[in-house]
Amino acid sequence: MENIRFRALEVSIQRQRKSVLFPEGKASDFFGELTFNDSAMKEYLPAQTYQQVIRSIEKGEKIDRKIADKVAAGMKTWALSKGATNYTHWFFPLSGLTAEKHDSFLEPVEEGKSIELFNGNHLSQQEPDASSFPSGGIRSTFEARGYTAWDPTSPAFIVDKTLCIPTLFVSYTGESLDYKTPLLKVLSVINKAAVNVCQYFDKNVTKVSATLGWEQEYFLVDSALYSVRPDLVLTGRTLFGNASAKDQQLEDHYLGTIPQRVISFMQELELEAHRLGIPVKTRHNEVAPGQYECAPVFEEANISVDHNQLIMHLMDIIAKRHNFTVLFHEKPYSGINGSGKHNNWSLATNTKENLLSPGKTREKNLRFLTFMINILKAVNDYADLIRAIVATPGNDHRLGANEAPPAIISVFLGTQLTKMLEIIEKNDKMIEITAGTGNSKLFKNLPRIPEILVDETDRNRTSPFAFTGNKFEFRAVGSSQTCAPAMIVLNLILAEQLQIFKKDVDKLLSTKVPQEEAIFQVLKKYILESKKICFEGNNYSKEWIEEAARRGLSNFGTTPMALKTLVTKKTKHLFERNHVLNERELEARHEIYLEEYTKKLQIESRVLGDLTTNHIIPGAIKYLNTLCDCVKNLKEVLDLSTYSRVSANQVETIAEIAEHIHQVKTLTNKMVEARKVVNKIKDAEEKSFAYCEKVFPFFDKIRYHTNKLELLIDDEIWPLPKYRELLFTQ
Ligand code: ADP
Ligand code: MG
Repeated sequence: MENIRFRALEVSIQRQRKSVLFPEGKASDFFGELTFNDSAMKEYLPAQTYQQVIRSIEKGEKIDRKIADKVAAGMKTWALSKGATNYTHWFFPLSGLTAEKHDSFLEPVEEGKSIELFNGNHLSQQEPDASSFPSGGIRSTFEARGYTAWDPTSPAFIVDKTLCIPTLFVSYTGESLDYKTPLLKVLSVINKAAVNVCQYFDKNVTKVSATLGWEQEYFLVDSALYSVRPDLVLTGRTLFGNASAKDQQLEDHYLGTIPQRVISFMQELELEAHRLGIPVKTRHNEVAPGQYECAPVFEEANISVDHNQLIMHLMDIIAKRHNFTVLFHEKPYSGINGSGKHNNWSLATNTKENLLSPGKTREKNLRFLTFMINILKAVNDYADLIRAIVATPGNDHRLGANEAPPAIISVFLGTQLTKMLEIIEKNDKMIEITAGTGNSKLFKNLPRIPEILVDETDRNRTSPFAFTGNKFEFRAVGSSQTCAPAMIVLNLILAEQLQIFKKDVDKLLSTKVPQEEAIFQVLKKYILESKKICFEGNNYSKEWIEEAARRGLSNFGTTPMALKTLVTKKTKHLFERNHVLNERELEARHEIYLEEYTKKLQIESRVLGDLTTNHIIPGAIKYLNTLCDCVKNLKEVLDLSTYSRVSANQVETIAEIAEHIHQVKTLTNKMVEARKVVNKIKDAEEKSFAYCEKVFPFFDKIRYHTNKLELLIDDEIWPLPKYRELLFTQ
């Protein structure tokens, strides 16, 4: 049979750019037209119902069945007017993917007729037969009833003629089986804690919302080439592949001209995203060839998390229309950059202010410093938990490699802020801070609090958690992860810290210390306690690893290690005290993540064995035979001295190939043996560690030899698309 790789290449080379059908008008004309947003609600709901929904969204009040019926009626009319035929509750089970179970609006009535039926019950609750979702043993299958419940704070939307209703997913006994439930709980906890602290500075602040702006990195690969790489299809990453002679070393891809076929994909993606109310704003090439990024304008965290989940789905389906496959894996290709999902995070008030924006007045600046320093303290105290929520097998390849933030969590503040904190720290009393700190100068009429000018160009791209002018950028989230765990943990640890802060300050106030003085004293103490988490240097350097160890910072290199923090006493207390997750729920999550880790490595190991045995070795043997025949034939036609001289290289190549085949085969067998032993382990944690330590190390060893074979074997025989083909066929 003809080489399957060549057939795929032929198809991919002939790909034409597909033009995108744009609707008439400007993007703002159709922005959000497929979401049941504020203006749709105004139009389709009775005025009173609309008011009640808005109130419940703002105050977090329950919506009763009567109102739900009215909302459902309006939503149905709206959805039918947009051509929807089905509806589904849309939720995030702990697999990290989205789940949906579609029901038709159509309901047969008497005389062979039918109507479109959708009421408050359908809107509020659905009972998917959800026994196959990971639940970490919370639901044994016989009491498998999990149910989904409407989240009115995230607007319903239409995709593929289906009305999708964002929902929570909980077990019959009330435990959460998803990401949205704890996220919504945390958002209400941070609201309360932050409002209480804001009250020291401004009585008008009555609501604080977390904001999130994600940046989604991804790779595009031609679908024909993708389909003949079983490793990409089944594991999302290449398990083999020698580096392309040229990849990212010339740095010519980053922010370079976007290839035409990719532009078409992006245009269609943006169009569909805008119709769904996702405010996508930025698109560009990333560092590696074939790698891109898209980012929206930031939004309220719950909506932003949903939008990220939705856009990943859109990317998947729209890429296929352009004969691309999107790779969300954190490290699809060895040796070049992987993909992350930066989470830009801040807090916004009902008074339309950003709590992480340095202000112009004394109150605003002290408030800014208060939030800033409390975040610093929270990250210092819960660094291990932050590491835990980005622990996935994909991210293990990325954290610590030379491109992404390392596995050591630290905070970058920038020169200005660092100096500012030093000044606060060094002043015994709350004296006037007049010292010039670079660009910053004191407001003459506002004693004691310096103006804070944050230099936005002052950026450290190597830090996992960096202050970038008016927000923190958490860079360790993996590209395939949902943003929810990051948002849950960051907001939770800050809420916890703000509660402690308030107690500390109130205690001083009760001893008649003036308010500003009290706040300063407490902040100063926090700065001292959090110094070890601050790092302004190069996070990729060896020196930092050593320095971090001296400072006592953790460096968890693998998922099973990092996940331990999820079930420590400290973590359980944190989550339980704030009523976000109970002990059982945390343990269930821990188990689910460990199992997912094990399963993913198990799949990779099987694919690896299949590829070496059934694809790579047979090809190598074929070429080996050709060489052997050639040498034999030469011997027949040449005189001995010529033969000895000219056959030496080929004989050497034969030996090399034979040796690599031997190694590949031996190591594969050993890996399979190791897997068999490890598979017998019952305990989820022990098993994940065993996969990590006993099975995983074979991957790179085998890869070393298959990559050598790729360099030695006739290109015409090699069955798997090579890196240069995967990366540059755009
Ligand atoms: P980069 O990190 O690539 O330089 P930008 O500085 O342009 O990117 O911004 C990245 C993201 O930060 C965008 O998605 C933007 O919406 C988001 N962002 C800006 N302000 C805030 C904020 N107050 N809260 C949350 N995200 C924000
Ligand atoms: Mg960024």
